[in-house]
Amino acid sequence: MSKNTVMELTRIIQNASLAPSSKEQVQIIVDAISDVIHIDVCSLYRKTPSNKMILLASHGLASNRPVILGENQGLVGRVASQRHSINIINPELHPDYLYVPSSKEEEFHSFCGVPLVHHGEVIGVLVVQSRRAELLATEQEAFLSTLGAHLALLIANIPAESLTFNQENEKKVGVSGSPGISIGRIKLIKSSGLNSVQDNPCTDIEEEIENWKQLREQVRQELKEERITVERELGDSLASVLDAYQLFLDDIGFSQKIETEIRRGKTLLWAIKQTIKFFSDQFQAMDDPYLQARHEDINALGNKLYHSWQGTHLTSEDIQSEEPVILVGEQITVSDIANLPTEQLAGIICYTGAALSHIAIFSNALGIPAVLGVGSLNVQDGDYVIVNADSAYIVLKPSRQLIKEYQVVLKSRQAFDETLKAKLKEPAVTQDGVRIQLFANSGLQADIMPGVRNGADGIGLYRTEIPFMIRQNLPTEDEQVKVYQQVISAYESKPVYIRTLDVGADKPLPYLPHVVEENPALGLRGIRFTLDNLQILLTQFRAIMRAAEGKSNVNVLLPMVGATQELDQSIELLESAYRQLSEEGVSVTKPKIGIMVEVPATISLLPFWKNKIDFVSIGSNDLSQYLLALDRNNTLVAKLYDPLHPAVVHEIKRIKSIADQYEIDVSLCGEMASDPIAVVLLVGMGIRRLSMSSAKIPYIKWLLSSHTIQDAEEFAAKALACDTSAAIRELGKDFVR
Ligand code: PEP
Ligand code: MG
Repeated sequence: MSKNTVMELTRIIQNASLAPSSKEQVQIIVDAISDVIHIDVCSLYRKTPSNKMILLASHGLASNRPVILGENQGLVGRVASQRHSINIINPELHPDYLYVPSSKEEEFHSFCGVPLVHHGEVIGVLVVQSRRAELLATEQEAFLSTLGAHLALLIANIPAESLTFNQENEKKVGVSGSPGISIGRIKLIKSSGLNSVQDNPCTDIEEEIENWKQLREQVRQELKEERITVERELGDSLASVLDAYQLFLDDIGFSQKIETEIRRGKTLLWAIKQTIKFFSDQFQAMDDPYLQARHEDINALGNKLYHSWQGTHLTSEDIQSEEPVILVGEQITVSDIANLPTEQLAGIICYTGAALSHIAIFSNALGIPAVLGVGSLNVQDGDYVIVNADSAYIVLKPSRQLIKEYQVVLKSRQAFDETLKAKLKEPAVTQDGVRIQLFANSGLQADIMPGVRNGADGIGLYRTEIPFMIRQNLPTEDEQVKVYQQVISAYESKPVYIRTLDVGADKPLPYLPHVVEENPALGLRGIRFTLDNLQILLTQFRAIMRAAEGKSNVNVLLPMVGATQELDQSIELLESAYRQLSEEGVSVTKPKIGIMVEVPATISLLPFWKNKIDFVSIGSNDLSQYLLALDRNNTLVAKLYDPLHPAVVHEIKRIKSIADQYEIDVSLCGEMASDPIAVVLLVGMGIRRLSMSSAKIPYIKWLLSSHTIQDAEEFAAKALACDTSAAIRELGKDFVR
C-alpha cells in the first residue's frame, strides 16, 4: 500500500468529517475505501450501548433494511469479542458465520474484519469482503488496521443512538458549558446571515462608506446599552466581555479594512464579511487556546453588525412562549441574550464553542444549562429538545416516553431543591452535631451573591485570575480594589480567602507576552509566574490590603508554592506592600497568609513552614494532576484522572496529620469538595472546611446532615485500605446514602 494511498484516505476522512451528517460521513468513507483499495465490499459497524452491532454504512452490501447484530454474533461479533482481526476465505464455512439474508452476502467469498478501538474499548468493526475467495494481502490488512485507528476516532464521536433508523431521541454529544437539565422548545438564533452574503457590486461607494459610519455608530450605542444591562444584572466582570466587541469596533485597522473593501467596489455587508473572516482566521491560527477562543468575539461582532444592519435582532417578543425556551444557534453571543428576559430561558445549545467560551461563563452565571460544540443541527423553531448539560449531551426529537421520563427527573429535582432551599440559612452539621464549614469558590462577580444566598460560610477560594483574564489589560490597583471590595463586603465579617493570580499553563493572560513552553503545567505558572513579574504580585497585595481596610476577615492564599524561597519571597513582598501602604497613611491590617497545597513537594516542606503560614488549602485538582502525572485537561486520560486515587487520598491524610501536628488550619478547595463520596471520606479523615462552587453547597449540607462522624470515619478507615479509586467508590456507595 503506497504512502500516497494512506495520505489519500487520511484526506478522505478529514473531508468526511466536514459532511453535514454522521450518516453521510460514514458513507463517504466506506465508498472511498473500496474505491482506493479496489475491494467489492467495505462496511462499517458501530457498537451500541447494549453491545449490539449496527451496520452504519456499507459499500457493496444490499441495505434495504437495517442490519443489527446481537452481542458477539457473527464474524463481526467475533472480531469485537476477540479484539483481534480476522482474515479468512469462504467465511460461510466458519462456525461463527451468521447469514443475514437482506444483505445478499452470499455473493462474497473472503472476509477481513478489524476491530476499531477507542480508549481501550472496541467500539466498532471495519469489514472488507471480496467476490473472489482470496485472502487479503498482509500489507492490505496492515493498512486496514492503520486506517482503523483513524476511523475509531471519527466514529467515537458519533453516538450510536443517533445512527439508529428511528429518528426519535437523536443524541448529540458536546461539552458542558454550564450544568443542569432542561426540556423546552427550540428558538433558533439565526447567525449564518453573514455567511450567506453574496459578492454583489456596490453602486455608490461614497454612500456605502457613509452607511458604514452610521452602522458603526449605531452598534457602538447598542453595545453601550447592552453593557449597562449586563453590568446591572451580572456585574462588571461579565459586562466587560462586551468591551471586547467594542474594542474591535473602535480599532482603526478594523474600520480601514472595511473601507478598503468598499473602495474596491464591494457592498457594505460583503466588506464586513471579508473583514470578519480576515481577523477571525488570524485568531484561529494562534496556538494559545485562550486567544484561539477569542475568534468567537470577532464573529460575534460580525453577527451583531449584520443583524443591526438588517434589523433582525432577536427581541423579547420572539421568545414569548407558554413553554420554556431553549436557544439554539451556531454561536450564541452575550449580545444575543443581553436584552432577553432570562426567566424564560431554559437552556442554550451552540453548534460551536468550548468550555472557555464566553457563553459558558455567562450561562453559568445565569444558572442556565448549556451544551456547546454539538455540531450543526437540522432543527426547527418550536421543536422539543432535551438539554442534559450534566452529561454534556442533548436529545433531539425526544419521544413522548423520554420527555415523560425527563419530566419525572426534573420534578423530583425541583422537589429536592425545595427541601434544600428550606435549610439554606442553617449551618452545615453532621447527624451527630459536628459543624463542618462550607465555603464558596468564586472568581466572577456573578458568583458572589449566589454564595451568600446559598448560605456559604465565606469565600474559601477567590480565583483572581478570572477578573484578570476577561479584561483586555492588566487591571490597575484601583480597579482591583473595587473588585475585591465587592467580594469582601458581600460576606461582611465571614472569612474570605483571596488567591493571588494563578495564571500560566491552561490559564494564560492574553495580553501579556506568551512564552511557548513544552510542558506548561510544569512551567511558569502560579506563584512562579508572579514572582517573575513581581510588580503584578506587589500591586495585587496592595489592592487586597486596601480592599480589606478596617477588616480582619481577609486572607491571602498563594497558588502553587513548592519551594521555601518562593514562600519567603512572597512574604517579603507582602511585607513591603504593607510598609508602603502604612507609609502612605492607609490604615491596613496585615492579612493572614496561607498556601495552596497543590505541588506534592509542598507536603514534606510544611513542617519547615509552620511559623510562616497561618493556613493551608488543599488544591485537590492540581495535587491529583501532579501526584498521578495526569493532565487534568487531557480528554485522552480523563478516565484515569480521579482524585479518589488511593495515592491522593493517602497524601491528603498526610497533609492533615502534619497540619494537626503543627497547628496549621486546613481546608480543601478542589472539585473533590463537591463529590459526595469524597466529601464523606474527607470528613472521615478529619477535614472540617470545604470550599466548592456555591451551587453545590445546599446539597453537600444536606448530605452531611444525613451522616454521622462515626460513619464517615469508618468509611475513611476502609477506604484507606483500598488500592484503587474504583474500590473506594464502590465502598462509598454503601456509605453515601
Ligand atoms: C486546585 O488545583 O484544586 C484548585 C482549586 O485550583 P485551580 O482549580 O484554580 O487550579
Ligand atoms: Mg490549582
